[in-house]
Amino acid sequence: MSSVQIRDVRKSFGGFEVLHGVTIPIEDGEFVVLVGPSGCGKSTLLRMLAGLENITAGTISIGERVVNNVQPKERDIAMVFQNYALYPHMTVADNMGFSLKLRGARPEDIKRGVARAAEILALTPLLDRYPRQLSGGQRQRVAMGRAIVRDPQVFLFDEPLSNLDAKLRVAMRTEIKELHQRLKTTTVYVTHDQIEAMTMADKIVVMHDGIVEQMGSPLDLYDKPDNQFVAGFIGSPAMNFLNGHLKSNGSVYVETENGAKLPILTAPAASDGRPVVYGVRPEHLELADDGIEAEVVVVEPTGSETQIVARIGTQDIIAVFRDRHEVNPGEKIHLRPRASAAHLFDKDSGRRL
Ligand code: ATP
Repeated sequence: MSSVQIRDVRKSFGGFEVLHGVTIPIEDGEFVVLVGPSGCGKSTLLRMLAGLENITAGTISIGERVVNNVQPKERDIAMVFQNYALYPHMTVADNMGFSLKLRGARPEDIKRGVARAAEILALTPLLDRYPRQLSGGQRQRVAMGRAIVRDPQVFLFDEPLSNLDAKLRVAMRTEIKELHQRLKTTTVYVTHDQIEAMTMADKIVVMHDGIVEQMGSPLDLYDKPDNQFVAGFIGSPAMNFLNGHLKSNGSVYVETENGAKLPILTAPAASDGRPVVYGVRPEHLELADDGIEAEVVVVEPTGSETQIVARIGTQDIIAVFRDRHEVNPGEKIHLRPRASAAHLFDKDSGRRL
């Protein structure tokens, strides 16, 4: 086990910079999830950790050692890819033990290492099968087993669940989390799925266009996003944003263009009339007689909750209610944002106020 330090790391491909100075401290035993939209540079960063891409500038350390010029196989890390990369002509046991064999381990040590990993992942009955005789989830577990057998200082996961169906993805998510609780191996996990990030991470790093927008615990990011990008990325369905102006003469609120008054608890000093973006999560809206008037566009009951898309002026807003509501498209409703859960962002910079 080991800490990992990523310090001011840059990456260029043919003169085109895709990572613009990324610094991420990772503690020993921490489960860190890198999230961000396609192209933000998360896979590139993971590949640099693995030693599969060189580092244009900055340093990466694993434990006490700067690894910029250390070969992948000398880094003591194990990587699990989304396509599993199993050897089709080898049994599960041979796939899992292969890295130990390459290292010249004794057959009895390989057998012991494989048996231990198989036990942890409930693969013992499958050790003699070939990859083609396994389900997607079982193959994914073999890929993890292969990583565990190496007993590395760091696990790297590159979207390991993206090829699995929805139900299996949820099951494997729990399995990986449980595995981490058990082994406490430092883990860096890349995904573009923010639910995976929220549910698995000790620390989430939100990346966008080659920079780190924010890092923190899942609930920190949910409660206090630093900017509109993070606010819109973390949380599902995504936060609603409404344009308006701050009113702070006497009572404080945000007024939208069509005159709706959106409640807030406090306003920054001397901000009367300032253009702002008002953010409210779908789960922080309630139906009320004195709320903002909106017209129901779509009603989506999921059984456990009701999701409503409603139109305020020209803008759509999503609301999620825990209980069931008999509302119909075309109906007028009143929505009241919870003032204590409102977020304010600067209109121009998108920064949290
Ligand atoms: P995704 O979720 O789609 O995998 P990502 O966040 O992992 O996206 P990267 O694969 O790290 O993004 O790519 C970051 C940027 O670097 C992209 O603009 C991509 O086109 C570019 N890039 C990645 N690999 C190379 C390469 N070998 N040569 C040139 N450009 C590259």
